[in-house]
Amino acid sequence: MAFDANTLRAQFPILQLEANDHPLVYLDNAATTQKPQAVLDALMAYYTTSNANVHRGAHYLSDRATAQFEHARDRVARFINAADSDHVIWTKGTTESINLVAYGLEWCLKPDDEILITSLEHHANLVPWQQLAFRTGARLRVLPLTSKGEWEPEYERYFNEHTRIFACTQISNAIGVKTPIKEMLAAAKAVKAFTLVDGAQAVAHYPVDVQDLDCDFYVFSGHKMYAPTGIGVLYGKPHALEVLTPVQTGGEMVRHVTYNSTEFNVLPYRLEAGTPNIEGVIGMTAACDFLANQDRTAMIEWEQKLARYVYDELKFNTSIEIYSPAVDTTVVSLSVPGIHTLDLNGYLDSQGVAVRAGSHCAHPLMAQLGVSSTLRASFACYNTLSEARRFCDVLLEAIEILGDD
Ligand code: PMP
Repeated sequence: MAFDANTLRAQFPILQLEANDHPLVYLDNAATTQKPQAVLDALMAYYTTSNANVHRGAHYLSDRATAQFEHARDRVARFINAADSDHVIWTKGTTESINLVAYGLEWCLKPDDEILITSLEHHANLVPWQQLAFRTGARLRVLPLTSKGEWEPEYERYFNEHTRIFACTQISNAIGVKTPIKEMLAAAKAVKAFTLVDGAQAVAHYPVDVQDLDCDFYVFSGHKMYAPTGIGVLYGKPHALEVLTPVQTGGEMVRHVTYNSTEFNVLPYRLEAGTPNIEGVIGMTAACDFLANQDRTAMIEWEQKLARYVYDELKFNTSIEIYSPAVDTTVVSLSVPGIHTLDLNGYLDSQGVAVRAGSHCAHPLMAQLGVSSTLRASFACYNTLSEARRFCDVLLEAIEILGDD
């Protein structure tokens, strides 16, 4: 299977656009990816040939929609190597998945228990745990990882008999470093903590094997892996999903209801109240197929090569501070002391280059880096070397113009 970004980009209609009278250079992929024609076609096909509610009707269209909906669950289970499709719960995204776990495990926490996260977390993998700690009297502890994703020598003391939950990102969205996820999961399992991995930034780039990771929960969003917005996944081992209290109740998640009692449905339906995002689910099949049809090794090598190109172009520029690692990343996060990242962002946008300036929903990490925001260029499979070059050229132009103010 050959990998060629230029050929691949032809599958993404939006990339033909101009932005502010310049060819669009889309480098905000860590925020959300663009969608290939196959995903757009799947959505249109659903609405033109299969639209009906799932699991409820006993008619032709409902059967078609239900078959496609459950096929998508099988497809995603295969995509992340889950042992069974019942281990895949549909949510609206990573944030909802983490909240379902944080509320669902509330029963098992008491004062003195500890919830452990790392210093590289997105707010989505911080605030739900902090609020859970507030509600239960448990303590939120933060394992300090360096901005290189390394942990400090005495990390073991963070994992102890009080640790009930360990929640950690696989890759930092803000600076693109990988965490030593398998070692950390091993340490968490040694103290019998529930483990959750935030895979939001991993799924589009790396093949995910939840059985190999052996975590209790693995969560991600479709929109960051070429699927539609509004759909996400909560993967769980059966025993872990089984003990989650359903946060949302209503239709679909029940077997039998009287005014005095409710018998809940079996998994996965027990955790999926109400009419789901059927089109999003069906879009997930097309997105998984799209990724599975690529040479994944060549694809990630390409994405990393683009980030490396930018890193090498900018690393000797004394006005630029780079926070991302030189290798093994698809992100270059930087700042230019003396120039606000929003101003840099504005100039890049005026030239058609889309990046992200801000705190990347990671205020504590920004504080650790000693900045309030960074400018982040994040690469996807359809980006080209000339786009990476254009980003560098326009950034340097911006520094020259804005630096004189
Ligand atoms: N975790 C990480 C690492 C992320 O990058 C994001 C999205 N930026 C989230 C969680 C939240 O994802 P969503 O907004 O799709 O729920």
